[in-house]
Amino acid sequence: MIRTAEQYLETINDGREIWCLGEKVKDVRTHPTMSSIIQTTAMDFVLPNHPNFRHLFVTQDEDGEDINFLLTSPKSAEDLLRRRECYIAGIRAGGGVVVHCMGSDALAAFAVVAQLMDGKLGTNYVERVKNYQRMLQKQDLAITGAITDVKGDRSLKPSQQKQHQDYYLRVVDQNKDGIVVRGAKVHISCTPGANELLCLPCRTHGEADKEYALAFATPANAPGIKLLGVEPVTRTYGEEGNVDFPKSSHFQPPECLIIFDDVFVPWERVFMCGEWQFSRNMAYAFASYHRLFGSCKMIGKLEILTGAAALMAEYNGVDREDHIRKKLAWMAMITETVALLGKAACLDPETEFGSDVVMPNRMAINASKYTFASNFHQMCQYLQDISGGLAATVPSYRDWINPEIQPYIEKYLSARDGIPTENRLRMLRLAKDYTSNFYQIDTIHGEGSMAAQQMFLYSSADWGKMKAAAQRAAHVDGWQDHPIYGKLPVIEEVKMPPVDETYAAIPKTAK
Ligand SMILES: Cc1cc2nc3c(=O)[nH]c(=O)nc-3n(C[C@H](O)[C@H](O)[C@H](O)COP(=O)(O)OP(=O)(O)OC[C@H]3O[C@@H](n4cnc5c(N)ncnc54)[C@H](O)[C@@H]3O)c2cc1C
Repeated sequence: MIRTAEQYLETINDGREIWCLGEKVKDVRTHPTMSSIIQTTAMDFVLPNHPNFRHLFVTQDEDGEDINFLLTSPKSAEDLLRRRECYIAGIRAGGGVVVHCMGSDALAAFAVVAQLMDGKLGTNYVERVKNYQRMLQKQDLAITGAITDVKGDRSLKPSQQKQHQDYYLRVVDQNKDGIVVRGAKVHISCTPGANELLCLPCRTHGEADKEYALAFATPANAPGIKLLGVEPVTRTYGEEGNVDFPKSSHFQPPECLIIFDDVFVPWERVFMCGEWQFSRNMAYAFASYHRLFGSCKMIGKLEILTGAAALMAEYNGVDREDHIRKKLAWMAMITETVALLGKAACLDPETEFGSDVVMPNRMAINASKYTFASNFHQMCQYLQDISGGLAATVPSYRDWINPEIQPYIEKYLSARDGIPTENRLRMLRLAKDYTSNFYQIDTIHGEGSMAAQQMFLYSSADWGKMKAAAQRAAHVDGWQDHPIYGKLPVIEEVKMPPVDETYAAIPKTAK
C-alpha cells in the first residue's frame, strides 16, 4: 500500500521511549523542535502521492498492489538509476526519502547477503528477508538503518573490550522463538520518524566475535529500546525558524543513540545470527548502497551552496569579478562531478556476490563520496567568502520584524539596486545556517576578505625575484642585474675538458 502523510503520522505516536534535552518526549509530532524532523520524514509519504512523482516512487508488487519503489531490491542498472532519481527528488524537495534511504540500503544489503549465506550455508534467510520486505511493502512502513556501533576502544575487537562486552550490538540469549539483543547503535539518522529499525554489523568479524555477527529488524517502540535524541541545532521554530535557520530548522539533528536493553527479536526478523564470515559482506554491501544515497544527498546540498553563492554574488554586485567567477565555476564543477560519478556507479553496477540484486559500482560510488567529502569545506568557504562578513553578523528575524528598527536594516543592508533587502537577508541567513559557523566566517572576513589578502599578496610579492629565478633557469637574459640571482655563480664557471664529439647520436650544441 501507499500511505498518506496523515496515515503515517498516526503510526508515529506509538509509545516509543524517546528523549530530547534530558526530557522524555510525550509525542514526537507535537514536540517543539522534534516535530520539525517529523514534518520532514512525513514528506516521504507526500512524494509517492504527488502527481509529479508518483511514477517514480510507486511500483506494483506481485499481487498488483501499489508499493513504494524504495522498498524493492534493485535488480538492474535501471533500478539503481530509478533509486537515484528518487533520492535526488526527495533531497531537492527538502524531504521525501529520509525514512527510505538508510533503511532501504540496509534492506538491499540483507537481500544480497541472504542469497550469499543461503548458497553457502543452506540457511533460509532469503525467504525471511522476502517475507519481511513484503510486510514493509504491504504496510508501507518508514525504516532506518542502524549500523554504527558505539565501538568503545577502536583498537580492540568486540570481545576484547575491557570495561564491558556491549560496545557492539550482540546476542545475549536465544530460544525457539527468537533472540535477545543488547548494546547500542549511535548517530542513527531519522530514528524519531522511523517505524522500524534495521540493524546490521558495521565491521568484519572473526569467529571469536560471532555473537556480534547480527542482523535483524525491530519496531522502534519494542520493549527495551530507548532512543536518545541529539540536541537540536536551533531551539526556534515556526516562521522564526524558517527565516533564521531555513535548513536546519527542518532538519533538526534527527540522529539518536539507540539503546537495546535486552530487546527480544523473533526469528522471522533475524537475518544473520552468528555467521561471522559474512559480516564483512553485509557491511560492504550496505556501504555501497548508502554511498549512492550520500551522493544524491550531496547533489541537493551542493546545488544549494552553489546557487546561494551565485545569488549572493549578484545581490552584492560582484558577479562579474574574475575571482568570483572562478570560484563559482569550481563550485559548479564539484557539484556536477559528484552527480556524474553517482550516475556512473548506477550505469556500471556490480553483482560480485553471485546475487541477482545489483550494487552500485564500488570505485565510482566511493569516488563520488570522496569528492564531496573532501571538497565540502572548500565549497562552504567559497560561499562564506562571496557572501561577505554579513553571513556571520546578519540580523535575526526578530530584528527584521520590529518596526522601529526595520527601516534602518532596510536602508543600510540593501546592496544592488532592485534586489529586495529581505531577499538578501534571507540568503545570508541561509549561508550562515548551511555553512553553520560564525567562527569560520569570522575567520574568513575578519581583518579583510581573502580577495583583499590576495590583492596585497599579488602587489607585494617579489615578482622580480621569481622572474629572475625563472629567467636564469631557462637561460633567458634579464636576471643578470638581479641583486640575488645576478650575484650567484653560473654553472659555466666550472671549466670542463672538451666534449668528445665522436658520439654520433648526440647533436652538437648550437653555437
Ligand atoms: C550526522 C551523522 C549521521 C549518521 N547517520 C547514521 C545512520 O543513519 N546509521 C548509521 O549506522 N550510522 C550513521 N552515522 C555514523 C557514521 O557512519 C559514523 O560516524 C562513521 O562511520 C564514523 O564512525 P564513528 O563516528 O564511530 O567515528 P570513529 O570510528 O571513532 O572514527 C574517528 C577516527 O578514528 C579512525 N578510526 C576508528 N577506528 C579505527 C581503527 N580501528 N583503525 C584505524 N583508524 C580508526 C577513523 O578513521 C576516524 O578518522 C552517522 C554519522 C553522522 C555524523
